[in-house]
Amino acid sequence: ATPTALMVGTGRGAQLGILIKGPEVLESTRRVDTVVLDKTGTVTTGRMALHDVITAPGVTDQELLRLAGALEHASEHPIARAIADGAAERTGALPTPEGFENVAGLGVQGVVDGHAVLVGREKLLSEWAIELPAELAAAKAAAEAEGRTAVAVAWNGEARGILTVADAVKDTSAEAVAELRRLGLTPVLLTGDNKAVAESVAREVGIDEVIAEVLPQDKVAVVKRLQAEGRTVAMVGDGVNDAAALATADLGLAMGTGTDAAIEAGDLTLVRGDLLVAADAIRLSRRTLATIK
Ligand code: ADP
Ligand code: MG
Repeated sequence: ATPTALMVGTGRGAQLGILIKGPEVLESTRRVDTVVLDKTGTVTTGRMALHDVITAPGVTDQELLRLAGALEHASEHPIARAIADGAAERTGALPTPEGFENVAGLGVQGVVDGHAVLVGREKLLSEWAIELPAELAAAKAAAEAEGRTAVAVAWNGEARGILTVADAVKDTSAEAVAELRRLGLTPVLLTGDNKAVAESVAREVGIDEVIAEVLPQDKVAVVKRLQAEGRTVAMVGDGVNDAAALATADLGLAMGTGTDAAIEAGDLTLVRGDLLVAADAIRLSRRTLATIK
């Protein structure tokens, strides 16, 4: 390899907002045929906002928002931010939880105002043998059909309501997916979020292959499974929960707007956090290689 060509490649990369860990990274870009895209924060902005508040009989909106908001205030998850901010806006000051635990990929649990509170996926509630009553399950399904994420809230052993949050797809995501296809890559959407929300986002940006409801620790297994099928995998992600998968992929692209863990695990950093730059990065690397050969 001629070092000059590599330097030109990496220098041009920096101009485009692509930071490349080392010249050996370029080689991986030639073989990739599949690009796995994390949903939240990668294909979507990750800036969610609180929408609907749906309560079980006997529960007020204020109560639901106060307990759920207080607990989510202690979490850094984009969904948690949306709920805590929305609750504070609608109810005023939130109490400080007396206990708090983050349950990766499922939600949060803790104690607020003396109540044992759960906020998260229906699966988090079922781990405590709590079922959603029919009217809450129907509200959840309706919200998900519209592409919103529905979060369940329970306290003292009973489901108390549903909060819905929504996250916008980034302006450039659909164009970027088309561009990645033109480069010969098959896009796959990978998310911990539920199937209905994932499929609605996938439809919006033009992705056919969706792998949803994957726990953070299982994202690596998905990448390995694709590799075992003989595919060479690029992964684009932003979260702490993507770091291991980014490291396992043949080519890891981290959103520069994401977490430090993701950036450290990636081979390439997309400074602006724009998916279009992922396509630029692959095209530029391939071109640089062509110059060397
Ligand atoms: P993604 O893979 O799309 O980045 P995560 O793995 O971080 O998503 O989360 C998966 C799902 O777990 C979320 O869509 C949400 O339903 C639930 N969840 C995780 N953390 C929280 C939280 N703090 N509050 C509510 N729900 C949560
Ligand atoms: Mg993410």
